[in-house]
Amino acid sequence: MNRYWTLAAKPTGGLPTPETFVMRDGPVPAPGPGQALSRTIYVSLDPYQWGYKTRGVDAPGAVCHARTVSQVIESRMEGFSAGDLVFNVNGWAEHALMGAGVPRPTYMVPRKLDPSIGRISQAVGVLGMLGLTAYAGMVLMADPKPGETAVVSAASGGVGQIAGQLARLRGARVVGIAGREEKCRYVVDELGFDACVSHLSPTFADDLKAACPAGIDVYFENVGGAVFDAVAPLFNPAARMTICGLIAHYGAPAGTDARAELMARHGALLAQRGVTVKDLFVGDFVADHHDAFLRDMGPWVASGAVKYREDIRQGFETIPAAFGEMMRGDNFGKMLVQVGPDPTL
Ligand code: NDP
Repeated sequence: MNRYWTLAAKPTGGLPTPETFVMRDGPVPAPGPGQALSRTIYVSLDPYQWGYKTRGVDAPGAVCHARTVSQVIESRMEGFSAGDLVFNVNGWAEHALMGAGVPRPTYMVPRKLDPSIGRISQAVGVLGMLGLTAYAGMVLMADPKPGETAVVSAASGGVGQIAGQLARLRGARVVGIAGREEKCRYVVDELGFDACVSHLSPTFADDLKAACPAGIDVYFENVGGAVFDAVAPLFNPAARMTICGLIAHYGAPAGTDARAELMARHGALLAQRGVTVKDLFVGDFVADHHDAFLRDMGPWVASGAVKYREDIRQGFETIPAAFGEMMRGDNFGKMLVQVGPDPTL
């Protein structure tokens, strides 16, 4: 049988609870012409998936969407053979089809993985769309210069840890913002950020100001809310801000425009200082930049120039709990669930 998770009902806001999801099973599908069947090894859990559920992209009854690392079991799809390890989009399911007639965003097409480039789990992380997100938002859009101060929120998370290290490789002074103290320590001691402040501290705004004595030139925004309230007054003239995500608002009632609310609060100040605000959507960069990005990032990760922490939970049953923990900040590194054996380990 093929087990999968689906929504019990369409969420109307708030954050996921154990009742949000139900497990179902059905027959393992057989591949038709131009299709391949794969078994899921790693399920990537990402904040954007909550948006898919609250906006109705994931419908109750359908498999919850997720990018995955999988192994082909049976193939009638050109270019893929049984045994191939692949990046694909099996969702929260133990098995799924890919190929002809299986709808996928154009920037999430299946691709074969080369385990010599890095661990296969990294294909949904630092060597995949998360790494490309950090690379696009930090290097291609914000473009930090030596000596500038770059600030990254959710700094120990999947995207944040990479974005900060890329700014450091560019010679910037890098300040992280994270939650628990152990996350802040990791960001400084292991990732080499120059400082990290906790947004959970009652003195957070003062701590951030003290950590950025020369102001902020680049800000990589993953969070919004009170974190952005503390960042905004510290922008230097002509600073650059990349809005990658606003996770502090993902539990807001449907229809809330978090970006507009933040700009209403701080837009006048940003305009006065000539701050450039750019919105990032990683899908815009896949076609033109993914291969070049991988040529840079593969060796950086292999040499340790870019470090990368994963938070890998075990077992298909744990997916909803792991997802809820990530949405509440209880992940430490890129959140994944391993649901089947990894033949490369
Ligand atoms: P993370 O691994 O960073 O996990 C989310 C983290 O966000 C938590 O661990 C927590 O870290 C922090 N967080 C959660 N709630 C709050 C809150 N209320 N206030 C402050 N911090 C909070 O996830 P990802 O790396 O996968 O994603 C990071 C961001 O990047 C998200 O906003 C996501 O939507 C965005 N994204 C955007 C893409 C794009 O194309 N624009 C593509 C991919 C991701 P802590 O404990 O340190 O607070």
